[in-house]
Amino acid sequence: MNPLKKRIGVLGGGQLGRMMIEETLRLNLSYNILEADSNCPCAPLASNFIEGSLMDAEKINQLAAISDVLTWEIEHVNTEALIALEEAGKEIIPSPKILQLIQDKGLQKQFYLDHQIPTGAFFLVNNPNEWAAAIEKLPGNKFVAKTRKGGYDGKGVAILNKHDILKGNEPIPFEGPCVLEAFVPCEKELAVIVARDKQGNIVSYPSIEMEFDSKANLVTLLLSPARVGSIIEEEAEQIARKVVKALNGPGLFAVEMFLDQEGKIWVNEVAPRAHNSGHHTIEACYTSQFEQLARIVIGLPLGSTELVQPAAMINLLGAPDFSGSYKLDKLEEVSKLPGVFIHLYAKAESKPMRKMGHVCIMAPTLTEVIEKANYVREHLVFVKD
Ligand code: ADP
Repeated sequence: MNPLKKRIGVLGGGQLGRMMIEETLRLNLSYNILEADSNCPCAPLASNFIEGSLMDAEKINQLAAISDVLTWEIEHVNTEALIALEEAGKEIIPSPKILQLIQDKGLQKQFYLDHQIPTGAFFLVNNPNEWAAAIEKLPGNKFVAKTRKGGYDGKGVAILNKHDILKGNEPIPFEGPCVLEAFVPCEKELAVIVARDKQGNIVSYPSIEMEFDSKANLVTLLLSPARVGSIIEEEAEQIARKVVKALNGPGLFAVEMFLDQEGKIWVNEVAPRAHNSGHHTIEACYTSQFEQLARIVIGLPLGSTELVQPAAMINLLGAPDFSGSYKLDKLEEVSKLPGVFIHLYAKAESKPMRKMGHVCIMAPTLTEVIEKANYVREHLVFVKD
């Protein structure tokens, strides 16, 4: 079959799906979208739009019936329904079995351990009664609790003080099954996006470093290449590739890592899809993460991951003080800057801290990139329209 004629079905209609469509419209690719919210970012660009829950097996089957191959842009989907489809012969990339592993942060940590992939010490607990025994075995004063399932964008993650929890000064934040893991004193958070095609060929993008806003629990600024030496760069890419080899199937994967204060790299988690840490690849790399995923899904060869110029990415978040219709303050000033690419996700309303868009900033050197990025971050903000 002509790869460009393959109908791609995507579970989820958010900005990641939208950017995948935008990036491959020039190849005439066509997408069918399943999403509960008919006002979602993908709706205006979809060839066929199915309104329905990503948990609804019947809707997923409907999507499969009009698509040659399926993928997703969000992890919270009905994996059982996808596994049944895959077993019946439907092509789904990545395999929903990989998604099933990644949806459960407990299974994910165990997977790293089983495959000799460096990850911090952890214990699995089922309820608050099991916390004390596990916490006592973790190193350091702080630890991190994560709900095994259902967390996203830092929700379902709590950085806690051992003493406060053990003495009852602070309540246990989660009732159900959790991973309790060692707190990694982090020098930098890194991510490497790895792409693997159906033949098993693997390419990785240059690593990025993230600056994290602990209040919003979101990445605020991302830089590529990461400011690490060539040895750390090589190691980060090797570890990320090792994770993807172990996952043993095609797809696009973002491997999030911590670089600790001793220069050691630890894997935090993997996202089996296009990721916030790869948005800069649209302008800053020869092949964007979105086109790369589309290539894998329809069976075209992997594209070059080379960085064209150093880049930064800033998430444009809804202002903390209002909800409703919005415009960008200082749009004119920022639009005058060369190498600044504003992306908006067609969200109907701004809400506090909602991901509304992003900006990619490019320049010949990282110093210039950072200078320009700081200007953009300070000036380009959402205000009421
Ligand atoms: P989510 O899947 O919701 O993005 P993460 O597991 O990535 O959650 O955790 C969110 C953030 O919390 C991380 O980006 C990091 O800043 C911090 N964090 C998570 N685990 C640890 C850890 N073991 N040590 C130190 N910081 C951590």
